Amino acid sequence: MEIFPIQKIREDFPILHQMVNNHPLVYFDNAASTQKPIQVIKAISGYYETDNCNIHRGVHFLSHRATESFEGTRKMVQRFINAASSNEIIFTKGATESINLVASSFGKKYISSGDEVLISIMEHHSNIVPWQQMCIEQNAKVKFIPIHENGELDMDAFRKLVNEKTKLIAVTHASNVLGTVNPVKEIISYAHSFNIPVLIDGAQSISHLGSDMHDLDCDFYCFSGHKMYAPMGIGILYGKEKYLEAIPPYQMGGEMIKTVHKDTTTFNDLPFKFEAGTPNVEGVYGLHAAILYLQDLGMDTIRKYETKLLDYATNKLTAMGDIRIIGTAKEKTSLISFLPGNVHPYDAGVIIDKMGIAVRTGHHCAMPLIEWYKIPATVRASFAFYNTMEEIDLLIEAIIKVKNIFG
Ligand code: PMP
Repeated sequence: MEIFPIQKIREDFPILHQMVNNHPLVYFDNAASTQKPIQVIKAISGYYETDNCNIHRGVHFLSHRATESFEGTRKMVQRFINAASSNEIIFTKGATESINLVASSFGKKYISSGDEVLISIMEHHSNIVPWQQMCIEQNAKVKFIPIHENGELDMDAFRKLVNEKTKLIAVTHASNVLGTVNPVKEIISYAHSFNIPVLIDGAQSISHLGSDMHDLDCDFYCFSGHKMYAPMGIGILYGKEKYLEAIPPYQMGGEMIKTVHKDTTTFNDLPFKFEAGTPNVEGVYGLHAAILYLQDLGMDTIRKYETKLLDYATNKLTAMGDIRIIGTAKEKTSLISFLPGNVHPYDAGVIIDKMGIAVRTGHHCAMPLIEWYKIPATVRASFAFYNTMEEIDLLIEAIIKVKNIFG
């Protein structure tokens, strides 16, 4: 039987080994941001110790070395998500910036009065507001795919919402509130039968499921480094070359130009056309180390272990009787949103924190979804591969305490 090397993994994450409120830290806020292994931390400090300089421009040794590492990581990301070309990999600040880029540039080129953009009611604000604001500017409309009570997308409603006005579909691969893994392949192939491009928000799926651009065949895909064990401030936009070639640049400045004269500018080739200014080089070094870490562990191994954590926590919470789990889709990533009886999620979060356990409470940047469920907020426990069943037992103890205090 395969043994998951949990103790060795936990040793790689220095932050986990501390006391919080006189209890050993239990970190269950991984959907907001994951912790970083020592390999990632060392990659960042190593960059500043030996390689720091601006890239692409210098003829000197350091600039060559840093540029090679930076561009090597672009190729590594290309292989990690199985994209056809490294020209399709754009370094951004994160998922939010990636979506803003597409909404702005695709919107300018392809969206006009009367058009529709189709998203779902379970989207993070990052995959709502850029479309909403772009549509206001272009006099277009955002339409929302509804969900079923269990948190699965209503695919019949989706098909009915697609029409000749639909110019783009943007949906999340996995929900940050419900954990639902959406049938994105089905959505993409249906959209493509009408020649409609699809953007997939991979912020909540990349570290749990990985991703394969060739298999998915989506037109745009985005994710953030900090939710996959890499630093903050670095992320990826994947776009099919035909779209990235066609849409205008997002930001103007150095790096994204070929020539500049007083009245005219010619833009650089892909991928640099979308990378104006000095990039986050340290972030790219950290992302490189994070991808290596995930590959060493293996995405299948990660998925199997995290599913065990999810099943264990779901069974324990269900057995408590008066816990309402929000999001019971058949396919889920390893997170659980719940309402602890009639205790307000915020009050529960404060008590749980007193026991050294970090969970998230609130609307999780998905207010339309929370309104759809007619609930005030949820408590969300989100698990990573460094979490353990024993930690879940501690969460259950904390919830019992919450109920005793507010009961
Ligand atoms: N989409 C989803 C589904 C998310 O969960 C998040 C972050 N919570 C984002 C987008 C935005 O990611 P970032 O803040 O890293 O840009």
